[in-house]
Formats: sequence, structure tokens, C-alpha cells
Amino acid sequence: MKRFHHDPVCGVRLTKGKAYYFEVVDDEEYLLCCPECQTKFIDKKRFYIKELKRKYEKNKNITKNRI
Ligand SMILES: [Zn+2]
Repeated sequence: MKRFHHDPVCGVRLTKGKAYYFEVVDDEEYLLCCPECQTKFIDKKRFYIKELKRKYEKNKNITKNRI
């Protein structure tokens, strides 16, 4: 299973031990830091997942460019 180490709502870095809540969507695990982020995530799941993946994709490209 793929796990994202950032809260998709507020962007804070999390480990599973620190997360307030986690949810598995399409075999990928999303960690949330607090009840507010949990509520927002559940409300607009697809939007936040898309945004998080875009952020990860961008970071990957930055790393690639540095090499
Ligand atoms: Zn959060």
C-alpha cells in the first residue's frame, strides 16, 4: 500500500503514529492531523487527493531537475 506522509488538507508532515485519523482510498493511505482536517477531507476527498498528488508530482520534478 502506498502511504502519503503529508496531511492532504493542511500539508503538515505526519507519521502514522502522530496522525489523528487515517483513511485508505483506492489502496493508498492518507493521514490527517486533526478533526478539522478529517472533516474537510471527508467532505472533499477527491479534491484533496488530487491536490496532494499534484504536490508530490511537483516535488519529484524538482528533485529530478537538481540532478
Ligand atoms: Zn491537518
